[in-house]
Amino acid sequence: MKIIAIYVYEKTLSMASAYNMSSSTVGDASSTIIELHTDSEHIGYGEICPTGPLPQPEHAGSIRADLELLAPALIGLDPVLIGQVLAAMNSTMDGGIGAKSAIDIACWDLLGKATGRRVCDLLGGPFTDPVSTYHVIAIGTPDESASSAEHLQNDGHTKLQLKAGGRRIEDDIDAARAVAAVIRPGVDLFVDANRGFSVEQAIQFSHACAGLRLNMEQPCHTYEECAAAKPSLVHPLLLDESAKDLATVAKAISSGVANGFGMKLTRVGGLSGMRAIRDLCIATNTPTSFDDSWGGDIIASACVHIGSTMPPALSRGAWISHPYHQCHYDETNGPRIEGGRVAIPSGGPGLGLVIPTGYFGTPLASHN
Ligand SMILES: [Mg+2]
Repeated sequence: MKIIAIYVYEKTLSMASAYNMSSSTVGDASSTIIELHTDSEHIGYGEICPTGPLPQPEHAGSIRADLELLAPALIGLDPVLIGQVLAAMNSTMDGGIGAKSAIDIACWDLLGKATGRRVCDLLGGPFTDPVSTYHVIAIGTPDESASSAEHLQNDGHTKLQLKAGGRRIEDDIDAARAVAAVIRPGVDLFVDANRGFSVEQAIQFSHACAGLRLNMEQPCHTYEECAAAKPSLVHPLLLDESAKDLATVAKAISSGVANGFGMKLTRVGGLSGMRAIRDLCIATNTPTSFDDSWGGDIIASACVHIGSTMPPALSRGAWISHPYHQCHYDETNGPRIEGGRVAIPSGGPGLGLVIPTGYFGTPLASHN
């Protein structure tokens, strides 16, 4: 099998409900879709969709510029030999991890289609189907947050992530107390400040909530600030934005800075990079989630496939952004949340999606 053409598309995902984080409010997102066409007439799909230029270093424009550099180096390669594809990309440009991740996901889709196997099978096999997910409670008043937590639990959710930061620390403490008061046995609460707390605020928050059963996710801006706060926290600390690669994850585990992770596939090299982190987390008994920042059915499917391969005791769930937009590239098999869980897409081998020909319209760029 050889790659004979690469097409890059834009897809706008319109917001259906509010999503506020400490650093920004998520608006209509611009997703980048990649199609790898092969001489065997298979098509592999990849996707990356930052929520905007603030929450992470890469944005739609930078990713598309990176793809302009990377795509010509891929023509003629066998996409099933994923290690060689990654090596070719790394010898073409430094950085560009988001674009490389999207290509990696498309290669796994092709590997599945070439072998007739699902991506989750190729990654070791699923432990669960449907896969547990977690749901965000956007920044709001204590009453709004508690009400949202009640509704989500009524819908079957067992993992809730309360957003925090970007306002008075007392408001976040009040919201956390209100939500914790309605959290039911067996439901986990994560308070995610998305880097919005200072070291002092993180410590203040943890001590003010000392009696509450919750985890703190990425309270401070940098790894070093999180590490400085850690000895004074009374809650488990999870890293997200600072867990930028496998080496950092290994350091955070071995030094005791992190008790778990919120991991984004396109931050760490796609399914190949996430597989390495999954295996490290299994070896060290460390929980992690399987997320991406945003995106449609393709990236959601990738998250669900690899999320299913984590032993449930260590899984913080796979996350998909579909509840916040109402777009499906595959109306039948596109991942959707039912009862707090997401089924593995079952439309066929690879990522399990059947996307209509021409669905994404005219490509932004074509390489062949
Ligand atoms: Mg997070």
